[in-house]
Amino acid sequence: MAINVNINKNNGVSLGSKTDALSTKKIPDQQTFQLGIRLLKSVFGFYFFVTLVLTSIQLFSEYENEQNKVFREVANLGDTVKASLAKSIWNIDNEQIDVTISGLLKIDVVTFIQVEDHTGVILAETGDINFNNSEYQFVTKLDDGTMYQTSIQDDNDITTTYFKYRLAIYINNAYDELELIGYCNIFTDRSSIVGRVKYDFLLIIINAIIKTACLWILFIIFIKRIVTKPLSVISDATLKMHQDAKEGKKADTDFDINLLSTCKDELSDLAKNFINMRSLVLEKIRIINKQNNELEIKVHERTANLKEANEKLRHLSLQDPLTGLPNRNLFHDRLDYLIKCVERESFNFIVASIDLKRFKQINDEYGHQAGDAVLIELAKRMQKVIRPSDIIARMGGDEFGLIAKGLGDNKAEIEEFSKKIVKCANTPIPYEGNNIISGINVGVCVYQSDMESGDVMFKHADIAMYDAKNNGKEFSIYSQKVCDKSTRFSKITNDLNYVIDRQELSVYYQPIIDCGSHEVVGLEALLRWNHSELGFISPDEFIPIAERSSSIKKLTDWVMKQSVVFLQKLNKINSQCIISINLSGRLFNDETLIKTLPAYFNEHDVSPSQIRLELTESAMMHNPDFAIENLKSLKNIGVKLAIDDFGTGYSSFSYLARLPVDEIKIDKSFLIDLNRDDQQVIVEAIINLAHKLNLKVVAEGIESQQILAFVEKYHCDMVQGYFLCHPLPPEEIVEWLSKRI
Ligand code: C2E
Ligand code: CA
Ligand code: CA
Repeated sequence: MAINVNINKNNGVSLGSKTDALSTKKIPDQQTFQLGIRLLKSVFGFYFFVTLVLTSIQLFSEYENEQNKVFREVANLGDTVKASLAKSIWNIDNEQIDVTISGLLKIDVVTFIQVEDHTGVILAETGDINFNNSEYQFVTKLDDGTMYQTSIQDDNDITTTYFKYRLAIYINNAYDELELIGYCNIFTDRSSIVGRVKYDFLLIIINAIIKTACLWILFIIFIKRIVTKPLSVISDATLKMHQDAKEGKKADTDFDINLLSTCKDELSDLAKNFINMRSLVLEKIRIINKQNNELEIKVHERTANLKEANEKLRHLSLQDPLTGLPNRNLFHDRLDYLIKCVERESFNFIVASIDLKRFKQINDEYGHQAGDAVLIELAKRMQKVIRPSDIIARMGGDEFGLIAKGLGDNKAEIEEFSKKIVKCANTPIPYEGNNIISGINVGVCVYQSDMESGDVMFKHADIAMYDAKNNGKEFSIYSQKVCDKSTRFSKITNDLNYVIDRQELSVYYQPIIDCGSHEVVGLEALLRWNHSELGFISPDEFIPIAERSSSIKKLTDWVMKQSVVFLQKLNKINSQCIISINLSGRLFNDETLIKTLPAYFNEHDVSPSQIRLELTESAMMHNPDFAIENLKSLKNIGVKLAIDDFGTGYSSFSYLARLPVDEIKIDKSFLIDLNRDDQQVIVEAIINLAHKLNLKVVAEGIESQQILAFVEKYHCDMVQGYFLCHPLPPEEIVEWLSKRI
């Protein structure tokens, strides 16, 4: 019997379908019986057939035998009546003939009797069978007579076979010779022979059936006891093995002994083998069950781990783990979906790109955890100011993306909204005793029907954000103009990398004149860029761009070099001249600058005291303590220092007094707008303050005689402006200077 072993989820191992059938149904007795029926059909069917054939042969010989017996009886009858009939025929005593044949007819085998004379004339006959015209066939010769056979059909078309025993009757005549005087025909029919055989036939049939039945019953008992029963026991054992396997039991020895005691022949070998197999199978099943259980536990664990990992992955793939905000993927997904919706439903919405202004600085100054805290706090604040239906996402690093519905038509509303967002980052974020202001730039893109994708929209918002950043604005709304500006910005940023090699730069110099002596005491070096495609680009435009990249360092070095070389030339004309060089706030703490400058001056035979570095007020005041240290280092080189654009950077007076600078330059905006009373007050106050701090004052932006007169009236030390001289290229300034001498 085949045993299918399946690993199933609940029970581990179960026996296959065949055994399952066994588990629900024991081998029924009916099957034993069916085995008997099958044997009866095949073996006993054949036996019965053979018995029948043999019986038929026996019957046939029995019939032959009986027929001979009857023939003999008939012949004996003939012999018995022969003398009597001879006498009667000789005496022509018909009465006596009738008496004789009537007596014969009473004998069971005799059917009909005829007595003829020697010519064939019938003298007497008994029975109503008509043998006229019958044809006889010879059968056998018996004693003095001959046996013939004939068939007669009656009115019902039933044919009966008759046998005629024809006996010649002789008499001893007077000459003592045997003389034929007649014939006696004794008829018997086949049915009388068959009638005798019939019972024998029945007996033989019954005998065959009884023998077959007895044999069959014997076989059934034999099969049941010797074959079927042991098979049933093995079958039960299989069933039990199934149950044992379910319960995880080992082989049951009592059961095995019982199984072995059942039979002591080839079947016992089968049982023995079965027991061995059963033990092995049970052991295997137990092992498989065990392994299956372990496997199931492992699968459970793995599934749980996988579920957890999937959950994390899903979370990671859609949400920013730091802030818990949707991430870039989810943001773009929602944005694309919104663009699809807006085509059908038509509503307003904006997309904003938000970027932190000082994230790198925060990380550098306070550490990365502070950076993380700022991002988390900012995310919370922004979430509070937007509507629940709006989406704020962290796009990566210090970038956020925002989608706000219902905004678009009204520019004032967008500005109001942008301010709310900006305010989130302008409110200090407390972190470990520090108040961190991150500041953000917001770029807004309003949905237009020609924006076919979320990508395009966000790119526009990004352009607007950079526009805000590049132009010192807190937010900007995307437009074609902003886009053009951005394109120009990108081009300038890119071309700054090659500007020196392309030889498109030059340095112009603008004189600084002493108010008392009216002498040129200095020249401010101002960078010029004549771009091959874009034409003249103002330093007000390209310097801030250069400051965002490493280009500013290269530009400053270049200006420094040009100025020093020019100073060498000037020294030959006017040795008192000082060249003022603008130093970007980005290079304030540039160590290489501080290290390389002295050697540089030496190399060109220029005294550091002839160089004045101009640093903007805002660059210094961003971190005054830091500035003081850096300025001291610069001062140690021997250069002069000036605070540029004074008045625009919200100087702290306490720090101002501590800054190691020589002069301050009042921002030109105060002078150009001098007609305003408040500006005059400011200029006067700055001059007085500077003098009180023992600092020289330079007034920039002297565009007219009137402005010059005003600053001179308040004892400004030096002046610089278009009214006096525009910035000029080196050759022209040399010419201008030589004219003044
Ligand atoms: P700044 O340092 O304040 O330079 C003075 C600016 O005022 C110059 O503009 C000059 O041409 C302009 N100016 C002088 N007199 C007058 C006047 O009477 N009226 C008006 N309206 N303007 C006057 P410029 O050359 O366009 O430079 C602009 C700014 O670019 C400079 O402002 C400076 O901050 C920056 N810059 C120029 N060259 C350099 C450089 O080599 N390095 C750095 N870091 N910055 C530079
Ligand atoms: Ca300057
Ligand atoms: Ca200035």
